[in-house]
Amino acid sequence: TDNHGLTWDKAPCRFCGTGCHVKVGVRSGRVMAIAGAEDADVNKGLLCVKGYHVGGILYGKDRLTEPMLRKNGKLEPIEWEEAIEIIAKRIYDKPKEFAFYGSGQWTIPEGYAAQKFTKGGLSNNHIDPNARLCMASAVTGFISTYGVDEPAGSYDDLDKADVVILWGNNPAEMHPVLFSRIVDRRALGEKVTLIDIGTRRTRSTEFADHYLNFRPQTDLAIANCIANYLLENDKYDKDFVSKHCNFRIDKDDETRDLFGKASTLEEYKEKMSTYTLEYTSQLSGVPMEQLKILCETFANPELKITSLWCMGVNQHYRGTAMNRLLHGIHLLSGHFGKPGDAPTSLTGQPSACGTAREVGTLAHALPGGRLVAKPEHRAACEKVWNMPEGRINPKPGYHTVKMFEKFCTPTAEGGDVSTLFVQVTNPGQSLPNLYKLFEAKKNLEDKFLIVSEVYPTASTEIADLVLPASLWVEKNGIYGNSERRTQQWFKQVEPPGEARDDCWMTIAIARKLYDMGFPGMKDKDGQFIFTFKDEDGEEVPVWDFESYYDINVDKALYEEYRPLTHAKQKNVAPYDILVNAHGLRWPVVETKDGNWRETRFRFSEFDDPFVKKGTGIQFYNSTTKDDKAQIWFCPYEPAPEEPDSEYPFWLSTGRVLEHWHTGSMTMRVKQLKNAMPKAYVELNPEDAAEKGITNGDLVKLTTKRGEMVMPAWINGRGRPPRGAVFVPFFDEKQLINRLTLDATCPVSKEPDYKKCAVKVEKY
Ligand code: SF4
Repeated sequence: TDNHGLTWDKAPCRFCGTGCHVKVGVRSGRVMAIAGAEDADVNKGLLCVKGYHVGGILYGKDRLTEPMLRKNGKLEPIEWEEAIEIIAKRIYDKPKEFAFYGSGQWTIPEGYAAQKFTKGGLSNNHIDPNARLCMASAVTGFISTYGVDEPAGSYDDLDKADVVILWGNNPAEMHPVLFSRIVDRRALGEKVTLIDIGTRRTRSTEFADHYLNFRPQTDLAIANCIANYLLENDKYDKDFVSKHCNFRIDKDDETRDLFGKASTLEEYKEKMSTYTLEYTSQLSGVPMEQLKILCETFANPELKITSLWCMGVNQHYRGTAMNRLLHGIHLLSGHFGKPGDAPTSLTGQPSACGTAREVGTLAHALPGGRLVAKPEHRAACEKVWNMPEGRINPKPGYHTVKMFEKFCTPTAEGGDVSTLFVQVTNPGQSLPNLYKLFEAKKNLEDKFLIVSEVYPTASTEIADLVLPASLWVEKNGIYGNSERRTQQWFKQVEPPGEARDDCWMTIAIARKLYDMGFPGMKDKDGQFIFTFKDEDGEEVPVWDFESYYDINVDKALYEEYRPLTHAKQKNVAPYDILVNAHGLRWPVVETKDGNWRETRFRFSEFDDPFVKKGTGIQFYNSTTKDDKAQIWFCPYEPAPEEPDSEYPFWLSTGRVLEHWHTGSMTMRVKQLKNAMPKAYVELNPEDAAEKGITNGDLVKLTTKRGEMVMPAWINGRGRPPRGAVFVPFFDEKQLINRLTLDATCPVSKEPDYKKCAVKVEKY
């Protein structure tokens, strides 16, 4: 406690995947002060504007404080006991029609409990996180290249790179503290070349040495062009490639999968040969000289190159392909495995890695990089959970888009999800094609939507049951950020009213089912699947919220999960070690002197404890079982919907600096709301002039799915090229996702929010 009466404790920031460390100052039971943690590697004392205001998200005037059930169209307060009973009864009656929709903002224990409940308790794999909408293509890209998910490098690469390439992302707004790490080096006199490859000028472009504006979807051709240039000019790293890489070619039909077809270097070369500088320039609109600068950068072995990407590459109709190609050009050029030389995918959410990916809350996954489809993976989880053999269903559940399609289709017409439980996310605003995938539920009486939330949102608007949730430091938590860093925090203030932890909700529903005799909620010995004991070996009734904090449920669940992380060398640190650290990057191993050591550079002998000595680089989870990574050829293909005479513009959507995703938290912080109060449409100044549109004029946007009217912003924060517009999605009064397309990447099933065809008119 300091001399202002503030008690300080640590927590990771609640927002983006950067994972900055925040010092939280509490007085009189309320978060009163926020500061960046100076001794944290990630942010070295700095926060962005969202981070500095993170405490304010707890105190919006309209916090949800009691469970509410919709009766005659109106939400009315009910007791928790009744709410839990209603949910349990629906699940008991139709367990296979239940689906759980979660989040990369779930803490690790929350996600772990939810997937154990669904996959182990209900033998039903219909659980998916909203990470399907943001990271699924990164996951499939990593697995099909290295055999295991998540980046080899870390943020330390940003301190060493000579060249940083931004592939369709805007870290100046989306990962500001990381971006400042690059810009700070320049301010200190270091030479760091920044190349921005995008479909619109952003705040990041202002710092770029080179800006390559490409026609949407043709980033695939640009990546292939780099590979072709290296091959044609004999400038690829032959030694690295022959020792550490195989070649693969994407299938070209609906059988596309994680594995493709094996290929030779000759076949790969031949396929790539289409992507000459001239052809790629014509396709992408990027001048040949600029493409050549990019190609020559990769051809230069003296430079250290870090590629960064996020939603521009992932929310892509060919997102898996684009992820593979970025890994491929780093491997082919040998820009891999040394500090500063890395292909690095960034996450949008604070625990997209920790919870969605590592815990395995995706519909096909199990903890520690396991798959429901593999018998030995199911057996490993059943063993740790002490569940009978065969309890886990081998069939992957519905991915997000399919889950909502099934929920929004009448049961009689095959819509076999009738009860949907949403935690820690706002699908009513963030799903694509909202009329079809969310709002269609309004007309279906046999469907029941449960939403756990902190504020009223577009999702609670049509929910049948709304549950008030604890938020951030109102509960214990653990997150995993973009660089494999696991971070723990303790509860520091009480939640308002009757708001409760999401993890508690899951356990309480499970317990009600257990009491009703539902067999899946018992383990092999007939014990409740969420049994927690105190130091004296006595069971603690944590399903009663009064007793929930009598033990540390987070620690118990995390320690149950931790051994499951060893299968693919994702070894996370023990809970007690995390308590005293600003997070540790897995794999974390115990050293001879009893300390725990994190890993900054995976697959590299000099840092990764799992690499065999003398190998230099070892891809020890290789899909081809030969310790080699796969370099892929994936062709350019047109976007699923391209501008035409009726809808002649491209529409792209995304985020802004001030707001976290759908704005449900940040729009309650007056400083952030005042700084960015409402959505707008960005237009190119020449297009605007041609249509007689000036700043603030209302513009009507129409796609095949709907129309929307919003003010224009010209020469504002971003500038699209001619023939394109951009709209942020944070504003619940302007649900731009009513207009976006629900076409998904065929492998990852991630939707493409970055391009569809739109008509633009002055209103
Ligand atoms: Fe750091 Fe991201 Fe939080 Fe900003 S929003 S403080 S960059 S974690």
